Amino acid sequence: DAYGHQLGDRLLVKMSQRVSALLRPQDTFARLGGDEFVIVLAIEEPDDAVVVAERIIAAVAEPFLIDAAELQVSASLGIALYPDDATSERELMAHADAAMYHTKEGGRNGYTFFTPSMQVSANRQLRLLQDLRRATERGELLLHYQPKFVAAGTPAVGAEALLRWQHPELGMLSPDVFIPIAERSGLILPIGDWVLDQACAQLRAWHDAGQHEWTMAVNLSPLQFSSPALLDSVRAALQRHGIAPERLTLEITETTAMKDVEASLVILNDLTAMGVHIAIDDFGTGYSSLLYLKRMPATELKIDRAFVRDLEQNAEDAAIVSSIVALGRSLQLQVVAEGVETREQQEYLSGLGCDQLQGYHLGRPMDPDEFLR
Ligand code: C2E
Ligand code: MG
Ligand code: MG
Repeated sequence: DAYGHQLGDRLLVKMSQRVSALLRPQDTFARLGGDEFVIVLAIEEPDDAVVVAERIIAAVAEPFLIDAAELQVSASLGIALYPDDATSERELMAHADAAMYHTKEGGRNGYTFFTPSMQVSANRQLRLLQDLRRATERGELLLHYQPKFVAAGTPAVGAEALLRWQHPELGMLSPDVFIPIAERSGLILPIGDWVLDQACAQLRAWHDAGQHEWTMAVNLSPLQFSSPALLDSVRAALQRHGIAPERLTLEITETTAMKDVEASLVILNDLTAMGVHIAIDDFGTGYSSLLYLKRMPATELKIDRAFVRDLEQNAEDAAIVSSIVALGRSLQLQVVAEGVETREQQEYLSGLGCDQLQGYHLGRPMDPDEFLR
């Protein structure tokens, strides 16, 4: 992501060549997509898989030299055995995948054999996915709204819509639990449309209740952002509820914005031409090309709460925050700090020149009635 697609593709090619060299002609080595690969081997005993896995990890760990850039990558492997771990190809793949996630969670760069306990989380994901398919029809999804402020003690200037799932058995689920599943299954597209519509309907209700100046921010996932239907969805939601485009801000994370910068620029320019505002969310956690940031038609940078959290204890975080504020200023962007939990943080951030603040100290995400009160 940091060096761009082209270099990334060449890295993948070089990496595959190294791995291929370790395999036998009868072995299968295939790319599933992105940076995920699958290897199918006939072996005598499980230890044979260990030998191959260790060789692959060592080969991939050697630095790659591409265009004078020295790149260091690591491999996370998951191993599933037939017929011990699975009875079908499908299951074998799913179980290797579950084992791979285990490696990733354990700090990457290594291998893990599938065990039935991993199945539990794989099963849970599958169940959540099935439930999620019906969640919209059953009205289990809802939005909470977190207020945004220019300064403490002043009225709110708007809200960020945050998705919640009232699961019949598991209770209220946070988006971190189910958005990744929605994203991987494509369900995020209909859900995202629902969020846009619902947030615009809510803003209309607030405008009608006399809060004419309030704005609404809606988060977009990577899949939504690259979907050709996005422009129409946004336009339709605005029209349906009679919302002026400049009252709506779409938030995309820094990582999403920078993933394929040229494509992002096209989409962002179309959205901006329509009149909606763009915020770069979780700023500071990904890699930004400053050259591209300058060209992005964004109106807002949101400093990730990880920097805000350690502001007072950590001089480096304080330095990063003040650099982001300066950067935002010079690019004429509104700088918003998220995750403001204490009065000290709030005062410090306001002092640095943050234009807006959001966080538990000023207001938690809440249901729309409470928000209005
Ligand atoms: P985000 O857009 O960065 O949203 C801010 C998150 O920080 C929210 O978590 C919010 O509740 C939390 N937060 C706000 N103030 C504080 C604070 O003072 N301290 C702490 N510790 N946390 C605070 P939430 O609601 O769990 O959302 C997590 C992420 O899920 C969001 O991060 C956003 O990326 C994603 N998300 C939420 N709603 C949607 C949605 O409708 N669509 C999509 N695609 N993603 C969504
Ligand atoms: Mg956000
Ligand atoms: Mg954020």
